[in-house]
Amino acid sequence: MKITKKPTDHFEERKNGARPSFLIIHYTETQGPQVAEGYFTGALAHPTGGRVSTHYMIDENGSITQYVDEDKRAWHAGISYWDGNEDINSSSIGIELVNPGRKYGYRRFSAAQMQALVALAKDIVQRHNIPAHRVLGHSDVAPTRKVDPGELFDWKMLAAAGVGQWPEPTEEDYRIADDYLRSEQTLKEAFIKAGYDPKADMDSLIRAFRQHYDQDAFKSQNDSKVPNRQMAARLSWLVRNKPTL
Ligand SMILES: [Zn+2]
Repeated sequence: MKITKKPTDHFEERKNGARPSFLIIHYTETQGPQVAEGYFTGALAHPTGGRVSTHYMIDENGSITQYVDEDKRAWHAGISYWDGNEDINSSSIGIELVNPGRKYGYRRFSAAQMQALVALAKDIVQRHNIPAHRVLGHSDVAPTRKVDPGELFDWKMLAAAGVGQWPEPTEEDYRIADDYLRSEQTLKEAFIKAGYDPKADMDSLIRAFRQHYDQDAFKSQNDSKVPNRQMAARLSWLVRNKPTL
């Protein structure tokens, strides 16, 4: 695996001696890699006015660039939350995939890009012992602010390749799903048990969950805002199979 290193001063020490226990996947939402790289190195001012970075970026042609060393804290997740953790930047490694995103024409991630991601991500999760349920999208850890990498990202393929997890609901999950669908409170509690931010509103939680685990909702005519049994059963599977760390 060939990785090109590009220096940036957009990083700091991980806080409180934290070590990577999350892998966070993003898209750049830029027209090509140069603009994103400009943001990560400071050559270009980021539209938000803030300073951003990532450990890795993968171009659509599959080439991998590293900006921040894995032992340092890169600035990719921003205000974020998962399962009680409020400083995801300190406890994660970030990978940005070049994609025009919502703003410039969201499109499929290329085969070359996904192949490079599988190789890189496999290596990272093995070396840092990152558990499968902590391989997440930016939208999972910041559901009210972020939608990347979005519903065209193939999480199922990634899980089949050994990175992250894909829910396989059983009959029990479908029974539990019916409870979730009867009560918004029960559904909300399930999202929180899975790891999602308790402060997030229901619409954001449903959208973020579906972008990761129930992308059919975006393909059909069905209103993706209305929970259904498939969605709820997959959520139940995640809750039941979540290891206690
Ligand atoms: Zn992102």
